[in-house]
Amino acid sequence: MLEIEEYAKKYNIPIMQKDGIEFLINFIKKNNIKNILEIGTAIGYSAIKMANVSDDINITSIERDEIRYKEAVKNINKFNLNNRIKLINDDAFNVELNDKFDLIFIDAAKAQNIKFFLKFSGNLNINGFIITDNLNFHGLVNSDEKMSRNLRQLVRKIKDYVEFLKNNKNYETIFYDIGDGISVSKKI
Ligand code: SAH
Ligand code: MG
Repeated sequence: MLEIEEYAKKYNIPIMQKDGIEFLINFIKKNNIKNILEIGTAIGYSAIKMANVSDDINITSIERDEIRYKEAVKNINKFNLNNRIKLINDDAFNVELNDKFDLIFIDAAKAQNIKFFLKFSGNLNINGFIITDNLNFHGLVNSDEKMSRNLRQLVRKIKDYVEFLKNNKNYETIFYDIGDGISVSKKI
C-alpha cells in the first residue's frame, strides 16, 4: 500500500486522502455494502482499500487514462484481487452496465459529477448509496482566492452539483467535511 501511495505522490495522482478513505471503508462495513461501482480508478488505490474490507465485496471500476489503468491492473494483481475488482479502461460515458450496485463511488472529472450521477443512478440497488469525493476541491470551493478562469468554472460546477444533490427529491444527501469533502446520497 505504501508503494502505491508513494507512486501517487511522485506522479501527482490524486488518490483519496487518509481520513477520506477511512470514512469510506467504515461506511462500507457499517452498511454491509457488497457491490461497488467506482468511476475513476486512477491506479487502484481506493478500489483495493474497499475490496480489502471483506472477501465478498466485488468492485467494477472505470478509468479512461491508459497509463493509470495499466498501473491499476498491476497493483490489483499484486494484491490478488483481480477476481474481485473488474477494471474497465474507457471513458465512463461510453460504458453501459446492466449490473446493480449497493454503492456508486464518483471520484472522476469533478465538473462532470451531475452527468455521472444521472448516467449511473439507474444502476443503483434499492436502498443504495452514491458517494462523491472532492466536494471541497482542495479547499477552493470555499475560498475567495484568485483563480484562473478554468478553475473558477470547475468550482462553479462543484457548487452546482451540491445544489443538485440538495434539491434532488429522490435522494437524501449528507455532506461531510472529511478528507477533501464527501457527500453520501441515499436513495429514498
Ligand atoms: N479513486 C481513486 C482516485 C481517482 S482520481 C483513488 O482514490 O485511489 C480521478 C480519476 O478519474 C483520474 O485517474 C481520471 O483519469 C479519471 N477520470 C476522469 N474522468 C473520467 C471519465 N469520464 N471516465 C473515466 N475515468 C475518468
Ligand atoms: Mg478523489
